[in-house]
Amino acid sequence: MSESHRWRVKPGSKVDLSDIDTRDPAGAPGDKDATVAASAALMDRLRVLQERLYAEDRRSVLVVLQAMDAGGKDGTVKHVFTGVNPAGVSVSSFKAPSHKELAHDFLWRVHLRVPERGQIGVFNRSHYEDVLVVRVDGLAPESVWRPRYEAIADFERNLAREGTTIVKFFLHISKEEQAERLQARLDDPEKHWKFNPADLEARDQWDDYQDAYAEAIERTSTDDAPWFVVPADRKWYRNWVVSTVLVETLERLDPRFPDPPEGLDGFTIE
Ligand code: AMP
Ligand code: MG
Repeated sequence: MSESHRWRVKPGSKVDLSDIDTRDPAGAPGDKDATVAASAALMDRLRVLQERLYAEDRRSVLVVLQAMDAGGKDGTVKHVFTGVNPAGVSVSSFKAPSHKELAHDFLWRVHLRVPERGQIGVFNRSHYEDVLVVRVDGLAPESVWRPRYEAIADFERNLAREGTTIVKFFLHISKEEQAERLQARLDDPEKHWKFNPADLEARDQWDDYQDAYAEAIERTSTDDAPWFVVPADRKWYRNWVVSTVLVETLERLDPRFPDPPEGLDGFTIE
């Protein structure tokens, strides 16, 4: 039984983000407590499946997280991967590119961080910034960013063929929810470090970002690398959705422990 289809963007379908309720708890196993409990069980299962993926050492999984500021990317990493063996997970955060990174094509720094066989790689922001902030802030002309949709689809298709399963999440929050979370960062001294005045500029460009997200998702949701749009105003629901999709993805991969070396029966440890 698959739950994932609920949030999956079918290849070629139109995306209207304003039509997707950011508070919709569709499919949740119950109220907040019941959903948190279900997430804990999913995290246990994720731990088992990740261990097998690691032992099998043949394939990898790439998880892309994108969202507006305060959309919950960091919180998702923290919650969903709690309990998974850190040796089998790599988290990469993509900030504004350095001089060296800008001296290369936009996929160069991303390709370097793609998970190796046996690993789950998590991208906190990603190559999608190159059709999001770059587009909205006009960091490059349209003649540069527009062909990137195709470049991204080609890149992801190649990774998929080479053994990397890709799942991409857009954590969809409302503008009101973002206001509350940014305000909380201002109010709580332990969250001050998370506040960046530049986030307010991006907030002023909210509609432009929503348009850029919609087009990116529409153009790059493929069977090889589907997008999932997650109603993310409620953190407990968001964590459950991401855990559900990841577990279903890994169950489908069905990683197996490799065959033991020949002749193990002949050994005794004195
Ligand atoms: P944060 O994830 O909140 O630490 O912020 C990272 C910042 O880096 C965000 O403002 C992103 O928009 C920015 N960023 C990430 N990738 C790129 C890129 N390819 N070009 C320009 N800015 C980027
Ligand atoms: Mg930020």
